[in-house]
Amino acid sequence: MIDLRSDTVTKPTRAMREAAFEAEVGDDVYEEDPTVKKLENRAAELTGKEAALFVTSGTQGNQISVLTHCQPGDEVLMEANAHLFLYEGASMSALAGVQPRTLQGTRGAMNPHEVKAAIRPDDIHFPETGLICLENSHNKAGGAILPLENMQEIHRIAQESGIPLHLDGARLFNASVASGVPVKTYADQTDTIQFCLSKGLGAPVGSIIAGSEDFIRKARKWRKRLGGGLRQVGIIAAPGLVALNDMVDRLAEDHEHAKQLAEGLGNIEGLEIENNVDTNILLVNVEGRGKTSHEFLEELKSQGVLAVPFGPYTVRFVTHYDVSGEDIDLVIERVHRCL
Ligand SMILES: *Cc1c(COP(=O)(O)O)cnc(C)c1O
Repeated sequence: MIDLRSDTVTKPTRAMREAAFEAEVGDDVYEEDPTVKKLENRAAELTGKEAALFVTSGTQGNQISVLTHCQPGDEVLMEANAHLFLYEGASMSALAGVQPRTLQGTRGAMNPHEVKAAIRPDDIHFPETGLICLENSHNKAGGAILPLENMQEIHRIAQESGIPLHLDGARLFNASVASGVPVKTYADQTDTIQFCLSKGLGAPVGSIIAGSEDFIRKARKWRKRLGGGLRQVGIIAAPGLVALNDMVDRLAEDHEHAKQLAEGLGNIEGLEIENNVDTNILLVNVEGRGKTSHEFLEELKSQGVLAVPFGPYTVRFVTHYDVSGEDIDLVIERVHRCL
């Protein structure tokens, strides 16, 4: 089976398993796990933030950020297809008691003028705008990279309005490797940031939130409230360190593979590539073959290839560490066969 459902399916490397085995550990709820501290310090350094916190998942990292920034009754601004809005079980409403407000963007990027206009004035009728969220790279927009200038403009508006800005950077390292913009430069445009260790970077578990010391102190308490205070978790943080040290530069290979796949599939009549392939995500429209995404995926599965539906006629393919250039050639061949 060639599994292109997500970059979350990567298995930990040998170096990660060895690092887990060798990890020095302690009770992290007492802040006594030296490996977790090392990971958090490294993450703070990479993002140029004062402090960082190791959390169980990207969803937990985003939701702890919302809980820490907002009060119940606040409104949170985000792009219409943000992961925070589509794929996190409405947890910002269920847990933080806030209301999401979405703005339709272009390739995942909101128009700064619309963001500014959406910020609530002081009026008894209105919720207060408690947070603005960005997503880079943007999953639903096909791994699109947010232009740095777009982030800078929205950051300026947020600062002028005294509203914090959170970046869902689940795949920020993909964006950085592909654009050449350092992670720190992106992070500078935000108050807080979440990134995943367990996607393209290949670690088995975990995400990071980074921000000011004061923010991380409060976030640590929210993590504990949510049951995310873990004990000898250095055993899981150790592969995360390997991910940050060894697995970043190679993301360029995944991006190459996604382009290779786009070229191969784009040549097949009736298949349409929907996105500009910036990073490791490819969206293919199969309507021209008279098939729904589900029908197409069933046939593809019988040929030994997995991907996911991303709309009635849209299929998402994600390249990652466990998929080689030869695998991509095989995928193209098998798509030919099932059409
Ligand atoms: C995967 C993802 C998340 C959530 O990460 P999990 O570890 O799966 O909870 C958040 N945001 C984006 C953009 C993602 O792609």
